[in-house]
Amino acid sequence: MATTLTERKAFVAGKWIETGDWLEVRSPYSGEVVGRVAKAGASETKRAVDAAEQAMREPLPAHRRAEILVRVVAGIARRHDEIARQISDEAGKPLKAARVETSRAMSTYTFAAVEARKLAGEMVPMDAAQAGEGKLAFTLRRPIGIVGAISPFNFPLNLVAHKLAPALAAGCAVVLKPASQTPLSALLLAELEEEAGLPPGWLSVITGSASEIGDVLVEDERVKAITFTGSGGVGWKLAERAPKKKVNLELGNATPVIVAADADLDAAAAAMAANAFAFAGQSCISVQRIYVERPAYDAFLDRFMPRVEALVVGDPADEETDVGPVIDQAARERILEWIEEARAAGAEMLAGGEERHGLIGPTVIANAKPELKVSCEEVFGPVVTVNPVDSLDEAIELANGTRYGLQAGIFTSALQTALRAGRELEFGGVIVNEAPTFRTDQMPYGGVKDSGNTREGPHYAVRELTEERLIVIEL
Ligand code: NAP
Repeated sequence: MATTLTERKAFVAGKWIETGDWLEVRSPYSGEVVGRVAKAGASETKRAVDAAEQAMREPLPAHRRAEILVRVVAGIARRHDEIARQISDEAGKPLKAARVETSRAMSTYTFAAVEARKLAGEMVPMDAAQAGEGKLAFTLRRPIGIVGAISPFNFPLNLVAHKLAPALAAGCAVVLKPASQTPLSALLLAELEEEAGLPPGWLSVITGSASEIGDVLVEDERVKAITFTGSGGVGWKLAERAPKKKVNLELGNATPVIVAADADLDAAAAAMAANAFAFAGQSCISVQRIYVERPAYDAFLDRFMPRVEALVVGDPADEETDVGPVIDQAARERILEWIEEARAAGAEMLAGGEERHGLIGPTVIANAKPELKVSCEEVFGPVVTVNPVDSLDEAIELANGTRYGLQAGIFTSALQTALRAGRELEFGGVIVNEAPTFRTDQMPYGGVKDSGNTREGPHYAVRELTEERLIVIEL
């Protein structure tokens, strides 16, 4: 059961304000109200942009940006348990996963602090061209300008951290719009940044109508970059509407894993069971499609299914729970419809496939055809398909056969097979002998195809949020 009731004002231009209107935050598990936040809109967003512009007129030196980022790490550490419980309350994320997310946010801020301190341009070897003789040239990395950040519900702390921390490291002020379902963690992070010494205007957090806030971020020319994590439909539309801005998109996936006949099947089965259903499959790199070379298929299932059946489904606030609720009823209904579509098409339910007490149990679907939604669209639920394949060629073709390209995985004991998969799987990342759900926060993380157009991880995000300026000096 959710236990906390949190009330948070909007954080606009360095002040915590009421707006006269509130947005309720409900537990996806119990439906009870766990908090409320001041609902803001277009006028607060404009004020936030004004304040961001004002703030950026007095740049913060790198050492101050780094110190603030480091103090946020300490703030998260101090309130680790409270923060994890809040993530669990608002997102319905099992507490043990919420604790991992909280620690990861510390890691994200730590890496961003490192980036703030080493942000630098490079020397240009001018005398490499005859015309450059007698000249000295180098680049500076300048902040791109005001950043509009939009974040999703599924990692309400760490994906907000991936927006705020690199932007500050890069020297950019941010106007953040968190997901309406999970704004509490974002506002808590704003409180920690303020406590850490962030001057007014460098961050505002606006919760409210997505289109109203989004329209200001798209239309205001002072916002130079939009960094968006969420669904493809919303993300690509934003990019289309903002052709003169840099629009960085981190979007969805229908994550495939190949299990070669020579793989360590125990390791593969354990990794798949742990990573297809964690947070009810609501991670952009949750394992969704498993392709097993036919000679290993039965042996893989013998190892995989008992592990799936051992997962604890229930209250996310319970320390033992592995699989909790999906975010809301609309998501639950859609996922159940997709499962029904697969059942009606003759796919075999090896586990789950139905709702009990408002929760969808871990669902394993065998022999799902590629054109089914569970095979080619992002399920974002506790559902995985398992199909035998006759060759590595077939596995790679099926893995590549959707519009997504975020991360993919392969289990094999042959170096050649691993390297071939690395070359031929059309994804931003290929993970070998570990679930493709694997991520640490300094990795370059992002997709190709419909999955996005950028890389996050503080080093890469800072690169995206700064511009090179060339200085040439006649000696
Ligand atoms: P979503 O529905 O696209 O929402 C994401 C954010 O966009 C929310 O803050 C939402 O606000 C906002 N938004 C919606 N319409 C908007 C508009 N017209 N203008 C501006 N902002 C708008 O996604 P979600 O359901 O929260 O998250 C799930 C998706 O995120 C999945 O596809 C998942 O794969 C993807 N994801 C990707 C990554 C990655 O790193 N690649 C990581 C995590 C999640 P409201 O909440 O107010 O609607």
